[in-house]
Parts: sequence; structure tokens; C-alpha cells
Amino acid sequence: MAQDARGTPLWEVELGPERPPLEGTVLADVCVVGLGGSGLSCVRELRRLGASVVGVDAGRVGWGAAGRNGGFLLAGLAPFYHDVVERFGRERARAMYALTMEELDRVAAETPDGVSRHGSLRIAESPDELADCERQYEAMREDGFPAEHYEGDQGRGLLIPGDGTFQPLLRCCAVAEQSLDAGATLHERSSVTDIRPGCVSTERGAVQCDLVIVAVDGRLEQLLPELQGAVRSARLQMLATAPTSEVHLEHPVYARWGFDYWQQRPDGTIAMGGARDLAEESEWTTDARPTDEVQRALEQRLRDTLGVHAPITHRWAAIVGYTVNGLPVIGEVRRGVWAIGGYCGTGNVVGSLLGRGLARWRIGGDDSLVRPFLHAND
Ligand SMILES: Cc1cc2nc3c(=O)[nH]c(=O)nc-3n(C[C@H](O)[C@H](O)[C@H](O)COP(=O)(O)OP(=O)(O)OC[C@H]3O[C@@H](n4cnc5c(N)ncnc54)[C@H](O)[C@@H]3O)c2cc1C
Repeated sequence: MAQDARGTPLWEVELGPERPPLEGTVLADVCVVGLGGSGLSCVRELRRLGASVVGVDAGRVGWGAAGRNGGFLLAGLAPFYHDVVERFGRERARAMYALTMEELDRVAAETPDGVSRHGSLRIAESPDELADCERQYEAMREDGFPAEHYEGDQGRGLLIPGDGTFQPLLRCCAVAEQSLDAGATLHERSSVTDIRPGCVSTERGAVQCDLVIVAVDGRLEQLLPELQGAVRSARLQMLATAPTSEVHLEHPVYARWGFDYWQQRPDGTIAMGGARDLAEESEWTTDARPTDEVQRALEQRLRDTLGVHAPITHRWAAIVGYTVNGLPVIGEVRRGVWAIGGYCGTGNVVGSLLGRGLARWRIGGDDSLVRPFLHAND
């Protein structure tokens, strides 16, 4: 393969000065473990509600999946809308979808840098998939959600007009700054070694608190082994090209049942991910290094389907959590220790919603943002 920045995401930005690691014992109302998009959304909301909050991360802000993903801002959950209706009933499906639509608007309004709202495409690559797009269209229209048939340069399928894209690491940095401005304390390079009711320990410090919120998507079952069986970590991989004018892709695309996805950034760069299913077992891992097998499949997709021959500049991977039924995890795992995660590869919007929603519920007593997501074992 050609030379490229292996392991570095397209989104890399100057992160600014490091927040110091946690040292010694500190007190707070709440300790949030994990400073990706979900944890940061939780931290910021906790401060808005007046709670004192300490956030800790093993790496730096947004260094997990939250700053290394495909950059799609999608309403809904990972399963397609009609599948959610079938699995969880219409009322819950409708409530969850409506909440994520509102959250998407909120993300775009609160951290607008790098956000575009050109809708997203679900492109069918077989008659079966096209028929499934039609089922999704009918279910969404019946429940009053925006969906349009699409037939154009990018193929045939559905256009979901309210969706969009963003620069994921930029958003993490912006929410971290907003949290710090609001009075939160954040500690980077502070790996959590032990979580007990009322106490989170890292290598060199501890947070004594009333409430612990673990907002970790990939590797959640390692941190909280009670969740083994409920959530399973998987690697997702991506590549990106140099800016190119070989194609002009107006909308980000989800293809082949959502297994493959790509978008063109405003500077002409193509970011493409997927092919996880082609490598099967090897991608159920917590090793975040890209592999030749999946990278070759992505490269072939880029060259053959899109006809793009621009050089590949970045190849990277990160770890996410999958659940069996497609609903994210949200629940009290130990007394006073709550967890959110397991977004099945689509956590940018729903993770932000659940982070904010859990803060409002546990501190403000308002469960309206999380209620339809509860009963994760349904
Ligand atoms: C390649 C790829 C493409 C994707 N594309 C999309 C997409 O286009 N749209 C979409 O919606 N979703 C997408 N996703 C999924 C999405 O990125 C995630 O669901 C979401 O970012 C999860 O955010 P989070 O904050 O919950 O978790 P994470 O980003 O995983 O953050 C958790 C944080 O916890 C920290 N942590 C873990 N263990 C410890 C510990 N022991 N001590 C302290 N800290 C710890 C990690 O360092 C990390 O920073 C994609 C994911 C990947 C990998």
C-alpha cells in the first residue's frame, strides 16, 4: 500500500494545552469517565444544572471514537427506522427518533464549526436493499419524519434531508472548552483503574463523588465487566484521500445496508469507512490499529465504486460498542454508577443526547430525554 498517515485520523487538529492528569484525592458531586462526545455533553449539562463535576479520560479529549469517526450526524439509532419500529414498537421508535432529531439541531446550533446539513443518502446496491429502503420510507413518512426517494448521480435509495456531517474532533474540543468555561474540571491521561460506588480511582488520584457516570462506547465491557454479554467492542476502520475533483458528492452516503459509508468534505477530501463485515471475527477486538485486509477492501471500494484515484493520505480505526438488539446501553451498573454506550457504530447524536439526558435525569430529576431508551433488555 502507498505511504499514508497510518493511525492518524483525517480530523486531527491542534488540541491545545493538555489538561493535567488527576493527582491526589478530589471531591465532586459527579465524576464522568470518558471525554468523548457523550461524556463531554454530560459534563457540560451537569455544570448547567449546577453540579460540581470532574471528568477524566485515559487519553486526550476526543481521542476515542468520538474524534475518529465518519463524521455523519444522523437522526435515529443504528438500525433503520422500520426495524426499530418492529423491535420496540411504534411509540418508542417515534419518541427516540424525534429526540435524536432535536439533538442533531442542538449539536449544529451549539457547535456549528464544521457542520453541514445536506441530508444523508441511504443507497441501495441490490433489489432487496431497494425494497428495504421503501419499507423505511413508508414507516418514516407514516410517522411524520422527513424522508424522500433519491435517484441521481449517487445511486438509488433514500434521502434523509435533516441529517448532516461535522468535524467530530472539532466538536469534542468545542464542548470541552464550553465545559471548562462553565466551571468543570477535566483531567486527561488519567486512566481509570477502579470504579466503586462513590469513588473513581486512577493511577495517581481519586475522585470521591455522589454519582459516577461512565460514558465510554468502545471497551465499556472492559471497564464494567458486568456489561459483558450486553455490549461487545468492535473495531471500525476508515481511510481518507487528498482533496480531489474527480467526483462531486453532494451528500454523505450509507451503502450496503449501512456497512459502508463515505462523504466528501468541503475541500474535496473523501473520507470512507466500512467493510467491517468482510473481515468478520477479526474486527471484534479492542485493538484500534487499522488492518491490511479491511484497508484493501476500502481502497477497492474507493477506486471501483467511486472511481476516485486520488492518493490515500490517512488510514485509521477506533473502537465502538455493539449491543444485541441495537438499543444503546443506559443503566445503573453498580450502586451510584451509571453507564451509557453501545451505540452500534452510530453514536454521534444519540451519545450526545444520552449524555445530556442522563445528567438531567440523575441531577435534575427530569427523565424526558432518556425515557424511551430505558429497558435496554427489551
Ligand atoms: C471509524 C468509525 C466511524 C464511525 N462513524 C460514525 C458516524 O459517521 N456517525 C456516528 O454517529 N457514529 C459513528 N461512529 C460511532 C461514534 O464514533 C461513537 O459511537 C461515538 O463517538 C462514541 O462516543 P463516546 O463519547 O460515547 O465514546 P468514545 O469516543 O469511545 O469515548 C470514550 C472515552 O473514554 C475513554 N476511556 C476508555 N477507557 C477509559 C478508562 N479506563 N479510563 C479513562 N478513560 C477511558 C477513552 O479514552 C475515550 O476518550 C463511528 C465510529 C468509528 C470508530
